Formats: sequence, structure tokens, C-alpha cells
Amino acid sequence: MSLVTKGIGLAKKAKHHFQDQIKERTPVYLSPVRRIERVASKERICAMTFDDGPCRLPPSPDHFRGKALTLVLAELLERYSAKGTFDVVGDTSANYPDKPGKHGSASWGGVSYDHYPDFKQDANGGAANCPDLIARLLAGGHEITSHTYSHVLFGWKPLVYGRRHYLSGLDPVVEDLKRLHSLMETRWGYRIRLSRPPHYVDSIRGGFSSYDAYALMGYQYMAANYDGAGWLPLATYEAEVEAMWRPMERLLLETPDAFCGQIIFQKDGYNMARRSPVADGLDKQLQLLTDHGYRIVTVSELLEHSPFEDVFPDSEVGTAARRLLNQGWCVAYQDNTIRPDSVLTRGELAMMLFGWESVPRRIAMIRSGRAPFRDLEPRHPYSGAAAQAVQSGAATAVGGRFRPGDPVTAVELAQFCSTRMGKTPPLLNRDSFTHEEFFRMAVKLMEP
Ligand SMILES: [Zn+2]
Repeated sequence: MSLVTKGIGLAKKAKHHFQDQIKERTPVYLSPVRRIERVASKERICAMTFDDGPCRLPPSPDHFRGKALTLVLAELLERYSAKGTFDVVGDTSANYPDKPGKHGSASWGGVSYDHYPDFKQDANGGAANCPDLIARLLAGGHEITSHTYSHVLFGWKPLVYGRRHYLSGLDPVVEDLKRLHSLMETRWGYRIRLSRPPHYVDSIRGGFSSYDAYALMGYQYMAANYDGAGWLPLATYEAEVEAMWRPMERLLLETPDAFCGQIIFQKDGYNMARRSPVADGLDKQLQLLTDHGYRIVTVSELLEHSPFEDVFPDSEVGTAARRLLNQGWCVAYQDNTIRPDSVLTRGELAMMLFGWESVPRRIAMIRSGRAPFRDLEPRHPYSGAAAQAVQSGAATAVGGRFRPGDPVTAVELAQFCSTRMGKTPPLLNRDSFTHEEFFRMAVKLMEP
């Protein structure tokens, strides 16, 4: 193993450890928008997402006789019967005035904004400027997802991107997303379903987040759990290509099932050193994965195969939860787990059914600053759903308190089900229920 790849491995390990610690401290809520990092799968099936394209400029260095980088990637994928997920931008040409940053730094392509595929090369990238490449990707059966129209940050990001311009609130973010959405819809009759924020910046001015914007768009949040390393600048091109496949080869040798249900992060563009190791590294990655019996599918297909991260799709609870999900219920937490054994709370019960439809209501509450209950802030993830549940008679709030964290009792569950589903489950004398018990009960009530 080279020192460089060893270094990357250690840095990744430290980062994951840090993320795990944050995860433990942060409370998790049910959410209509789930952050999809990977899904539970016993099958050798995975997905690859390619950010920041399409790119009409050739790979760098160019071993492909001037062919567009996006086309090189599409043809490579197709040679292995693989389907890619191209997380495209619309057009970055409005992101001026700007000046290029230091070559090799995070601002290489622009100090105030990003420019794809490069500074003053915006006309050679983006769906709006490269309709031929979008048509080609769709013809190849690849998926198109939204990396936003302009790739302007959703909000302020200190440290690395502190000097970047960012969108001024929820409305401009939604407007930007709608622009790419309708471009794909009007030009190609294609409906986008997934999105990833530029540089994963989630917070939006005014107390909102990317999850609010995606909820308004009906999108799911597409993340990734394995870094394909194609964005990483190293001393030489050869080292960059090696960093793409060597760690993957090692992981496959140690744990052949490591990529089951995995989403791999890739780049359809240049790294900070203005090179595109993905053009050569991808071939080797695809070879490794297919040699190990993996099928590479789109992220949407991966989600159809298995929607959640913590239960297998063929398990009884997985089947029940999927059925409710397909009916528009909010059965999963923001991290795309369903946690079958956790105790169902009053806030969660309201969220299960009213999660999607109460999105605008919660946003209005945040804007007005008016709390629906004495114990529920407007910004609480369940504020809108709780208000909707009480208004519809599915739940009761005594003394102006909703008690969102209290377990749901048998009487409360019966009231909820009879109001919302027109049927009452057999009244068990219980003080609480797990999520799994509730899913099974709800699915049974749905049967004619
Ligand atoms: Zn990006």
C-alpha cells in the first residue's frame, strides 16, 4: 500500500469516527425526506453517483481523442452493463463576476462561486448547455438527479467555503431547484426524484434546511456512503487513479459483501488539480465490482430494491413499512432507518400520516414564529403534523400541550386509526407500542 492511500484511509477513518459521534448526540426525527446513504441488501447490488456534470470537455489528461468526459463515463458504464446516476447541474454561467482561486485549492474553479467544468468554461457544462449529453445519458438508461441548477450553496459554510456566495433563503433555493426540474421535464419529459446539495451544505437562512426544500419538491436526499476518490488531487495522475481502485480492491478482498446496497460517490468533472482520474479509475472499479458479482444500478432502482437502511426488504417489518411508504406515509427517520423496536410516540404517530401534507404548514409556522402548542416550537420537525392531527380530530391536545415525546397509548391509537383509516384496531390494553407493532397493525387495517 502506498503512503498516500494509507493516508487517505486514516483520514477517512477519523472522519467517520467523528461523524459517528455527532450521530450519537443528535436526536433523529421521522421525515418525509430521507437521507439515502446506502440501503440494506443481501444482494450484490450498488449504485454510483457522478456529481457536477455533464461535462463536454475531454478527460484530462486526454487518452480518449477529445471525447467529452461524460460520454467517456457513459460508455465505460455501458461496457459493464452498469447504470450510472448523473447528479447534474443546469448552468453555472450566471455565477459571475468571479475570479479563479489558487490552482489545487478548493476554490480552484472560482472564489465566490463554482464553475463547471471550469472557470469561464461554463458553456461546456450543465444540462442547459449540453442537451446532447443529457439525451445520450437518458438513452443509455442512466438516471438524472438534481445537483441544483446553478450549484450555488444553499447557505453559509464557514471554514472551507466561508467566502462563497450563497442563496438568501428557502424561496431562492426552491426556485433554483425548480429551474432544473422544469428544464428536465419540459425538454425531456423526465421527472427528477433525487437531489444532493452543493458541497452537502444543508442549512438555509431563516431557520430552514435542505430537507425543507426537498420536501417542497417531493425529492429524496441523495447522499453516498463510499467515496470513489475521483475528486481527490494527489501528486500525480497515476496516484489519483490508483487511489480510486486500490482501496476498493482491498475492501472487496476483506469483505466481499461490503458494497451490497452501497452508493459510491464519483465525479463527472475535474479535481482541484484539473485532472479527471475517473476516466481511467472507473474502468478498474467497474471491473473489480463486476468480477465480484455486483450489479451497478441507478439510485432509484436501488431504492426500489430496498428502501431503508436498517431492515432487509424481504423481512416482514420491511415489507409492511414499504407498503405504508408507498401509500405516502412517513415511516422512516431522516437517516433512512425505521428502527422497528423503538417506542411509537405521539409526535411520530402524527408525523406518520401528516408528514408530507403538513410541510407547508410547518414552514408557515416557522416564518410567523407562532408555536402551535405550548410544548412544541414552530421549528420542531413535528409542529405542522401535530397541528394537523389535532385539527382533524385524530389526536387531542390537553391544556395546549401536545406531549410529542410521550408513548402512544391504546386509546390514542384507536382514536387515530378510526379518524384517519375509518377502522379501529382490536383494542389492546397497552401503554405503548413499537414501530413494528404499529406497522403490522396499520397494514392489517388497510386490508379490505
Ligand atoms: Zn458539486
